[in-house]
Amino acid sequence: MPRDIPGAAPLLRDVFGFDDFRPGQGEIVEAVAEGRNVLAIMPTGGGKSLCYQLPALMREGITVVISPLIALMRDQVRGLREAGVAAGALTSANTEDETAAVMEALQDGSLRLLYLAPERLASFSAQRMLSQAGVSLIAVDEAHCVSQWGHDFRPDYLRIGELRQSLGVPLAAFTATADPETQEEIVARLFGGEVPQTFLRGFDRPNIHLAFTPKDGPRRQILSFAAARKGQSGIVYCGTRAKTETLAKALRDEGHSACSYHGGMEADDRRRVEERFATEEGLIVVATVAFGMGVDKPDIRWVAHADLPKSIEAYYQEIGRAGRDGAPAETLTLYGPEDIRLRRAQIDEGQAPPERRAADHGRLNALLGLAEALGCRRKELLAYFGEEAPACGNCDLCDTPPETFDGTEPVRKALSAALRTEESFGAGHLIDVLMGNETDKVRQRGHDKLPTFGVGRDLSKGQWQAVFRQMMGRDLIRPDAERHGALVMTDRALPVLRGEESVALRRDVVQRPERRPAAKA
Ligand code: ADP
Ligand code: ZN
Repeated sequence: MPRDIPGAAPLLRDVFGFDDFRPGQGEIVEAVAEGRNVLAIMPTGGGKSLCYQLPALMREGITVVISPLIALMRDQVRGLREAGVAAGALTSANTEDETAAVMEALQDGSLRLLYLAPERLASFSAQRMLSQAGVSLIAVDEAHCVSQWGHDFRPDYLRIGELRQSLGVPLAAFTATADPETQEEIVARLFGGEVPQTFLRGFDRPNIHLAFTPKDGPRRQILSFAAARKGQSGIVYCGTRAKTETLAKALRDEGHSACSYHGGMEADDRRRVEERFATEEGLIVVATVAFGMGVDKPDIRWVAHADLPKSIEAYYQEIGRAGRDGAPAETLTLYGPEDIRLRRAQIDEGQAPPERRAADHGRLNALLGLAEALGCRRKELLAYFGEEAPACGNCDLCDTPPETFDGTEPVRKALSAALRTEESFGAGHLIDVLMGNETDKVRQRGHDKLPTFGVGRDLSKGQWQAVFRQMMGRDLIRPDAERHGALVMTDRALPVLRGEESVALRRDVVQRPERRPAAKA
């Protein structure tokens, strides 16, 4: 039931045609309608626009909506007008007549919502027009555009803070970007540092099943996942353009309808794939992250990651394309040490300043933590976004709780192997040392003389690989990009090394190939 806000329920029903609020909407509408400064973080498709459109109708005066997306503004204006709401837009796409009509409605006070492209804020006449128009609320869509670090930075967004001050009205900012740095920038730049009432809602997508699996013949793993879902629309995300093509072909060879999609393709070819995906049933698109921004298909039944995404935010966004219709949808994310090495190297070799790189490592750590989680994945995912939730019953770890063991001793042995070899080697060599394998490399380096040599004979190679992967996942060791992925201990490992902390590890699901059970069909 709608919350008890005067006027909200009838408007929700009569103007917008909804019986109920979505999770979070009611509280946000209430706060905005009461004239509080609000920062609302909701995922794409969560229903942000209602959170300013409805309060706009509950308040006296005009609400100015600032959005960078002209097409979206025009859509919303059209929708509102069809519902009988006096709304208009001032954007570069206007005809002269449209602009004249909007200005007239502004002057005679009949307009309720004015959509404004941010570029307009640069002009003095627009500022004056707004100061005389009786604005009582500013709503900012895609508020992360004020962040200079983001991909979507809009310099004109920096003027919004001044506008808020000069008009002296409350401001409600909306975004789907949940990371704390972006939030801080929004608060500093739009609200002049005064902390608004902040809502983070609606991130749970309970119909999406979450699952991670360590890579173990990734192509076979993806093919078997797809085989069990034949005829359903799905997306496979890959780390490289080349892989999208080979994997799409492998899927076609197995009788699927599949095509590849990446940023290196001609615009026409890409559009053709988008159209096919929208209209055809049961098509699989094997894509890089270039695929997705414009994808608005409600019945995508599954999303698989053939390679690890770059951050927990990217993961959330990519799996979030599945099951928009609310019906059950499935996901599978594959990951391995090579992914971790690659993602770390991408961050280290990027152009970002050091603080930003540290933050990016943090976002990757959050994703790796999710991959190596010991309990409900959704609980962990939502906790990252600031939402509390009970165990979900709809993830692989809720389905089959992992067996754990006290891994402190193997972890300490592994750390010691890395340290005694001067943190100059990758997992393969360190495992040889631990298992006492007298390889040429081991003998040449004299590593068979180390006290660590052979102390790990109690575990199999596969088990050691799992230990190293989980250690990387917990950021106890990191591959050093400048030294070909040599494993280096991090500060986080110190308490473990000193015996002050213990480490629970998952008994791994990775089996040696010869003992692997038949692939599930
Ligand atoms: P966002 O801007 O957060 O991406 P939108 O505001 O465009 O999302 O809303 C996404 C979809 O959800 C729209 O089709 C909208 O009509 C629908 N929607 C929003 N609120 C409700 C509601 N309370 N009940 C049902 N549908 C809703
Ligand atoms: Zn769960």
